[in-house]
Amino acid sequence: MLSILQLFRIGLGPSSSHTVGPMRIARRFVASLAEARKLGDVSRIGIALQGSLALTGVGHGSVDACVLGLMGWEPEAIDPDAVPALLAQAGKGSIRLMGQHPVAFSPARDIALACDIIPELHPNGMRLKAFGQREALLADETWYSTGGGFIASARQLATPSADDLVPSLVRAPYPYASGAELLSLCGSHDLDIAALVLANEGSWRPEAETLAGIDRLLDAMFACIERGLAQEGCLPGGLRVRRRAPEMWRKLTANPTNETEVLLDRLNLFAMAVNEENAAGGRVVTAPTNGAAGIIPAVLRQYCHEGPQAREQARRFLLTASGIGLLYKQRASISGAEMGCQGEVGVACSMAAAGLAAVWGGTPQQVAAAAEIGMEHNLGLTCDPVGGLVQIPCIERNAIGAVKAVNAARLALHSHEMPKVSLDQVIETMRQTGIDMSAKYKETSLGGLAVNVAAC
Ligand code: SF4
Repeated sequence: MLSILQLFRIGLGPSSSHTVGPMRIARRFVASLAEARKLGDVSRIGIALQGSLALTGVGHGSVDACVLGLMGWEPEAIDPDAVPALLAQAGKGSIRLMGQHPVAFSPARDIALACDIIPELHPNGMRLKAFGQREALLADETWYSTGGGFIASARQLATPSADDLVPSLVRAPYPYASGAELLSLCGSHDLDIAALVLANEGSWRPEAETLAGIDRLLDAMFACIERGLAQEGCLPGGLRVRRRAPEMWRKLTANPTNETEVLLDRLNLFAMAVNEENAAGGRVVTAPTNGAAGIIPAVLRQYCHEGPQAREQARRFLLTASGIGLLYKQRASISGAEMGCQGEVGVACSMAAAGLAAVWGGTPQQVAAAAEIGMEHNLGLTCDPVGGLVQIPCIERNAIGAVKAVNAARLALHSHEMPKVSLDQVIETMRQTGIDMSAKYKETSLGGLAVNVAAC
């Protein structure tokens, strides 16, 4: 079983697959050279970004992410405010690999956008080479950024071993590979989904450490909203998209009303605050991806942020949401480059609906129904970011996704019948739809809004 602390990661905007993943891959590549005591022999590094990483990599920050990774930075640890100075340093013609070994380096020369290579194993490919004296090849590896900040080697994708899927040291007490198995385990052990997931996490680490990790995620999500509500101005990238969350928040707090629709305003602006931060390269939590990072925090902020039970409810929300998210990750994909936006915003909506249904006291069956509804009405959602930037339609799409998640939870809690569509069926439908979807709509910016809206 994957862990909640793998599914949700604190990272850097604007993209988990195109920023967080490439940074982790680049760092891992140079770290393994250091482990093999070859780092000192390196005189040149060459990286080829392939497929979707090449097609939308510039707008999604992949090139900069590679540079930072080569310098030894990890997405969790880097201070977003320090990034411009670090990149300016790298622009001067050399970098220190792992912060230690200096090599001549120019992003324009040494990081190629191989748009013509569409890898078979996964559309987000990255080939990295290290050369020594007289161009001797020291290392040549191909890695893939598989969505949500996850990475995999060519070998892991081509021939996944049992230990790649279930690390030998981590044996969960309640392993499940489908929604049906999850519900059956809940029934036979009289557990709700959050309790079952927490018990499984016990095979990774002591419970107190898991809860502390969840609290760090929650704090990062709420901090991201607060920062997004306070930052003004235009987002980077050339589309001149103005941040809207701060103004909406000011209007709302200056003129409190009892209108029911204020709920929509709050969900909208909390989600947009996160995604505007994400687009600006700020610190966000992959939930389960950066592009869809606003939905879960927005619903959490609205329903699990205040009052004596708030932290306990928020933990319950996140544990439940991760129990559902793991199913999407393991049975389909959470990568926009593989599934389109249904795999990002659709999955986040499904996870948020499940979390909220659990907080509202839903049975495991109702929670699964909420997750199913959250995805059912996002099926077929394409990924077509204008200008290759995670701004249009991504920011508003998170606002709509947050509202839809709340509605899905309401619908599920009002139903006491067996749903006609199961969670497993909708996940499989998403997977098949993703496979059938034209590559134009899978994080390539070659179709949809990306070609019909002028990127200027
Ligand atoms: S359209 Fe959806 S999947 Fe594509 S970049 Fe935006 S949020 Fe991610």
